Amino acid sequence: MEDLRLCPFATPDGKLHTAPLYRLLLAAQGPSTPIAKFVWKNHAFFASLLVQGRIQTRDNLLKKHIVDSACCEVCGRAPETATHIMFECPFAAAFWHSLGFDVHGATTAALDRIHRPGHVPTQSFETLVLLCCWQLWKRRNGIIFRGEDMTQRQVLIACKTDADLWRHRIRSKDRVVCDRWCTLFSMAM
Ligand SMILES: [Zn+2]
Repeated sequence: MEDLRLCPFATPDGKLHTAPLYRLLLAAQGPSTPIAKFVWKNHAFFASLLVQGRIQTRDNLLKKHIVDSACCEVCGRAPETATHIMFECPFAAAFWHSLGFDVHGATTAALDRIHRPGHVPTQSFETLVLLCCWQLWKRRNGIIFRGEDMTQRQVLIACKTDADLWRHRIRSKDRVVCDRWCTLFSMAM
């Protein structure tokens, strides 16, 4: 079983710290549009599962005897753990590289310790990381459940759309960070 003490958002007994998580998610104002509300809810739920190591990756499904192999269905090269699908799977590694990130050794249990490239804003950095993880997870689900195969450019476009929606979640004085994220994704396309 995963050692929950490694999770930055949980106490040693596994209870989730809500304060850092809420800071992570920039719970500042009520969503102003139905789409923003939908995105917000999905992000909050996803974030809580991801940092607890509870998203339904194949290694977790194997432990529950729901699948008979943990092999990643995206690359077919390694067991599908949360860390694999977010950082180690070749598509994910290339995606982060396109944004100028070095995610070598990065893990989902230590999302708050991802190395921040100099050109990426300090402000709300964890939210940006989470936004990218969310889109990588959606791409993975698209491959498995809908036979889709989003290109890197399509994922970057989806990230940019998401970054734009975050404007509705954050204080007006902080909204400039969304513009910088949008530029970051555009430059990587
Ligand atoms: Zn893979």
